[in-house]
Amino acid sequence: MSNPSPLLIDRLLVPAWEQHSYWIFDLDGTLLDFAPQPDAVEVPSSLLSDLAELSRRVEHRVAVISGRALQDLERLIPLSALQLAGNHGAEWRVDGHYGQVSFPAAVKDTWAVVRQQCKHLVASVPGVMLEDKGFTCTLHVRQLDRAAREKVKEELARVTSSLPGIALRPAAHAWELYPTFCPNKGTMVRKLLSPMPPTVRPYVFGDDWTDEDSFLAAPHGVTVVVGNRRPTAARYALPHPAALRSLLHEVARHHRLSKD
Ligand SMILES: [Mg+2]
Repeated sequence: MSNPSPLLIDRLLVPAWEQHSYWIFDLDGTLLDFAPQPDAVEVPSSLLSDLAELSRRVEHRVAVISGRALQDLERLIPLSALQLAGNHGAEWRVDGHYGQVSFPAAVKDTWAVVRQQCKHLVASVPGVMLEDKGFTCTLHVRQLDRAAREKVKEELARVTSSLPGIALRPAAHAWELYPTFCPNKGTMVRKLLSPMPPTVRPYVFGDDWTDEDSFLAAPHGVTVVVGNRRPTAARYALPHPAALRSLLHEVARHHRLSKD
């Protein structure tokens, strides 16, 4: 873990002409600003056209790896040229082919119990929102005060301690329950990069604790933490998603100019 340096546009413009690159982004809090509810996020049309521009170049591949369900990602980022992975890499669309990990029989029943217990919790604590994403369950606590958040955490810790193969992790203003057999984002980063020649340079962007796995999976890449969360394994930092969008816009603008 080190203190990341500010990311400057030169770091992104050099690969625009000279290198084959794999651009790998988290979505919420990285490319997009957070919204009070996950469904309320805004996807700027300029971001979509800049990502499309980036993916049009044969030198570049572009992927989004998110904690959201794949179906949700496809709705928010309707770009068929992008590689998408949902549920932290438990389901994916890579080169147009869909895939997902399969639940071991022993975990299936336990997972059904977890989903049921999450529903009970939501019914008993006002302000908690459940996002059931099939492979993971996220309980959003953004609208709760500190004491209520702690209570939810304790209750979820109690649930996970009684169920084998299920774990709890923090997310942005949320807690997430997940089966431990599921891959993390780093597994997906390695899966995307492994067929690539070693000359392809990864550019990895993320804001959340779960993005640390992505940074660690690309030690030779340009890894960028978005926001103030520390410590981090990322080498570079950007202050907020708008700063990343603005840099990408600049890269896309240079691409467009270089075609003239
Ligand atoms: Mg995020």
